[in-house]
Amino acid sequence: MVLLTEGQRRELLPVARGDAELLALDQVVAGLGISVTSDVAGGAVTLSRLKHEVNLYNRKSLAAVDGDLRLLSSPVLLEDGRWLVPVDAVPRLLGPLLDRRAEWRAASRVLLVGNVKVPRVAVATYLSADVARVVFEASEKVPFRVEQEAGRVNVTVARDLVDVSFQQQRLTGGIVDSVQFLGGKDSLFAVTLGRRFKELKAVEQDSPPRLVLDFQGLPGPAPAEAAAAVDAPRAPALTDAALRTVVIDPGHGGAETGAQGPGGAFEKDVTLQIARKLRAMLVNSLGLQVFLTRDRDEDVDLDTRTAVANNYKADLFISIHANASRARAAAGTEVYFLSYQASDEESRRLAQAEGAIAPPVNPVAGAAPDLALILWDMAQAEHLEESSSLASRIQEEVAVVRGSEGRGVKQAPFRVLVGAAMPAVLVEVAFISNPDEEKLLTSDAFQTKVAAALVRGIARYRQARFPVTAERPPAGVRPAP
Ligand SMILES: [Zn+2]
Repeated sequence: MVLLTEGQRRELLPVARGDAELLALDQVVAGLGISVTSDVAGGAVTLSRLKHEVNLYNRKSLAAVDGDLRLLSSPVLLEDGRWLVPVDAVPRLLGPLLDRRAEWRAASRVLLVGNVKVPRVAVATYLSADVARVVFEASEKVPFRVEQEAGRVNVTVARDLVDVSFQQQRLTGGIVDSVQFLGGKDSLFAVTLGRRFKELKAVEQDSPPRLVLDFQGLPGPAPAEAAAAVDAPRAPALTDAALRTVVIDPGHGGAETGAQGPGGAFEKDVTLQIARKLRAMLVNSLGLQVFLTRDRDEDVDLDTRTAVANNYKADLFISIHANASRARAAAGTEVYFLSYQASDEESRRLAQAEGAIAPPVNPVAGAAPDLALILWDMAQAEHLEESSSLASRIQEEVAVVRGSEGRGVKQAPFRVLVGAAMPAVLVEVAFISNPDEEKLLTSDAFQTKVAAALVRGIARYRQARFPVTAERPPAGVRPAP
């Protein structure tokens, strides 16, 4: 694991305690100008720098950051006078102390502090009858390295940190069987060759910086027939069968306020409040690990939101929004999952209002496909059925709370759901443009009820999807009688 700051690059050695991964506090703060005051007898430790202060407590999953309580993913531990903190919590302590942006990139195992520039690499694939093309596109020039070994081609990028929102894709046709991101120190991508593979041609391009791999195939059956032969049986997903990590995306933020109600409430504030409540309930009642794409009022672009979920290898992605309509009377909850065809014209307009609309899928044989389309194709397409099942359960639970069937489950091309490599839904909690619903949206009681309904929906989804590991939702999250 690496700690990267503008001026420092350090290796950190985490320790495991149960499921949690922890770091020694003294190791983390070395050289960062943070003072540590340990009260071993009292079971507390204080970190301070300038006017900022963070308090941690032995065996508690809590931190007081400048007086605000924050939930951590696992307890802080005091062992033989040494403080251990959960790895994913470290940026939430360092950020405020150093007045710097701080992040934990789980996939690359890098703690990022300050304005460190990180190249992004996207992967796209394209199949024709006798060529399988895999394109690696980078946001800046990076040292791609290609190595061919028996049955496999390895592509590495020798940089400390590379943003990759790609996990794996299986290909049909028998030339290339799969492309997988294995990560690690050199950000390894593995291309598994199929039985029809003949030879590889690699070309690097400059603008944009790209590595294009063309895998030539031996003559074989047409791709459609080959697809049927290769596709079944499908290999199981690489992830363990359990629901552990959820990423919640509070819609909008910063200068991007989202919709505004007639009483002046901003969508970006309401979404953050509901997201925080939902996080606390998911952690406390379902024991899940939960991350927010933003935990304060800041701009976060749409692609970064799904990239966060992909980096954390989240099992679910839930984007929270409030609806708006020119018709003041419009009311109710809507739950969406991704499609390129909107359920209706209204859904299409909404997807447009919530950010750039995703482009339609229309791959033309022989043409180089748009990278974004291919990414969509690989990431969310695999999970549509689960996304739909999650959306239905959430819709049913919210309907109970709201005392009406609501506006149902819909599909629309929401840009923020594109590229999520896990089941993903977008919830339009209520209409902020409706004066009555605006009041509801800003009320603590309604926010709590809606969050509890989402928790029940998620619990039911988990029960159906992972019957062995799932537990019943505890009494605390049942609907009020
Ligand atoms: Zn919105």
